[in-house]
Amino acid sequence: MKRSQQLEKIKTTTRWDMVVIGGGATGLGTALDAASRGYKVLCIEKYDFSKGTSSRSTKLIHGGVRYLEQGNIAMVRDALFERWFFLKNAPQETRTISFILPVYSWWRWLYYGFGLKLYDTLSGKYSIGKTEFLSAAKVKEAIPEIKTEKLKGGIRYWDGQFDDSRICLSLARTAISKGATVINHMSAESFTYCDHKIDGLVMQDLLSGEHHKVKAGVVINATGVFADYIMHMDNKEHHNIVAPSQGIHIVVDKKFYNSDEAMLIPRTSDGRVLFAVPWNGCVIIGTTDEKADYTDEEPQAGSDEIKFVLDNFNKYTSRHLSPVDIKSVYVGLRPLVRSNKLLHTADLIRDHTVLVSKSGLVTVTGGKWTTYRKMARDTVSKATRVAGLPFRRCRTRNLQLQAGPVADPGLPADILHKDHPFTTADVIMAVREDMACTLEDVLARRIRLLFLDAEAAVQCAPGVCRIIQQELGHEDEWVATQLNAFYELAKKYLPLPMQNREIS
Ligand SMILES: Cc1cc2nc3c(=O)[nH]c(=O)nc-3n(C[C@H](O)[C@H](O)[C@H](O)COP(=O)(O)OP(=O)(O)OC[C@H]3O[C@@H](n4cnc5c(N)ncnc54)[C@H](O)[C@@H]3O)c2cc1C
Repeated sequence: MKRSQQLEKIKTTTRWDMVVIGGGATGLGTALDAASRGYKVLCIEKYDFSKGTSSRSTKLIHGGVRYLEQGNIAMVRDALFERWFFLKNAPQETRTISFILPVYSWWRWLYYGFGLKLYDTLSGKYSIGKTEFLSAAKVKEAIPEIKTEKLKGGIRYWDGQFDDSRICLSLARTAISKGATVINHMSAESFTYCDHKIDGLVMQDLLSGEHHKVKAGVVINATGVFADYIMHMDNKEHHNIVAPSQGIHIVVDKKFYNSDEAMLIPRTSDGRVLFAVPWNGCVIIGTTDEKADYTDEEPQAGSDEIKFVLDNFNKYTSRHLSPVDIKSVYVGLRPLVRSNKLLHTADLIRDHTVLVSKSGLVTVTGGKWTTYRKMARDTVSKATRVAGLPFRRCRTRNLQLQAGPVADPGLPADILHKDHPFTTADVIMAVREDMACTLEDVLARRIRLLFLDAEAAVQCAPGVCRIIQQELGHEDEWVATQLNAFYELAKKYLPLPMQNREIS
């Protein structure tokens, strides 16, 4: 994937069938769906692919055990089907993972056990592993740090796991291979109209400052929690449809949870579930679900949210986690569809919605990572009707996603940081093959170090920045600007006690 080639296609194409705004799971999935049906599609991302919520998930490909408890059986079953196709179509970038739900009362053992049996039954022929009842000894064997006092046993069930940012890159790569044009650091700025209907878009390249005007049969708004901004851009009278809900994760060393299996804490103090999931040599613990009355590219965790996660994890494990043990805190905003009747975002519907405005703008919001393919299918089908394009059926059900490029053995393999496996070659490949343009693109979403260990990311930032500079031929001034911006950003991912220190 070369950005310069994508830019050239933008400059030389007079008209697109569809232009998609947003380079997260939904936008890139939509671009892939449209391209694989043979439509001429452009997808633009303001910052970097998966900069928004799509890099900040719990990284689970799941039906959603919690929604089952809420009685939303149809939605869970749909997601379980999608889970199967997600795993099947991206085998190099996904895996199945077992979860253990520890229980401390006999009644709960039966309740959760039969619930999770139902969870597996709902997946029908798309089951990825049988649910089993476990004795207390088996739970202890699987999770050495589990609190054993009054432990009655547990339940083991299966779901999928992935690297959300890497799958976004796979979607972009596969979409390009099917004829789509996909570009990052390109912002939608305003619409153009013909007879009150949107017929194109003005966008700005945020790297060069250049503006580009494109014409399109239909424009699709897949900007997650920013969907209302785009709808306001089209119609000043627009009433917001998104109710953002904030979820945080903390990332800690494996020594605090030394298991290859994930843990599901079935009932937190606010009645939700909490996961501890091994990922990339660390452990992700989360998440929360709090109504957010703001939208931001870099949402931040409050100390109460961090305390909530720590307290609930500590209730179930013997290693006492405290804020100083946290290696990174990352926060995402769920683009939930607004409902005026309900107060708590935890109750808002997680299904997706596709809306068509009077101007013909198609907006897709809600849903979850696991169901991106279904969201994309519904969106493209609706968009073809809006644009009056000939209908062609969806082709993504069995479409293999292209895995990341393999590093050339001739590239330098020296490690960037002593505690992590990433190398100079990874940085070079990210820039040459995966459209990484900035220090943040590399450290946050190509090698994920900012999400795994913010302090380590800060420590190797100068070296990584020099490698990018050499690859892209930037001046020294660029390095200074990139480093300053990255240090400011990294403070938001550092655990609280370190946040206010000076980084140099
Ligand atoms: C804490 C948390 C945990 C989650 N865990 C899971 C999970 O484990 N499994 C699961 O299935 N789902 C999970 N989800 C849900 C899932 O992450 C989201 O539903 C999904 O990522 C939303 O993707 P999106 O593409 O709609 O939005 P986004 O990823 O936010 O993408 C929208 C993009 O639009 C871009 N954009 C905005 N304005 C413009 C503009 N003017 N021009 C161009 N681009 C623009 C943004 O930069 C952004 O990258 C989780 C969500 C949260 C918050």
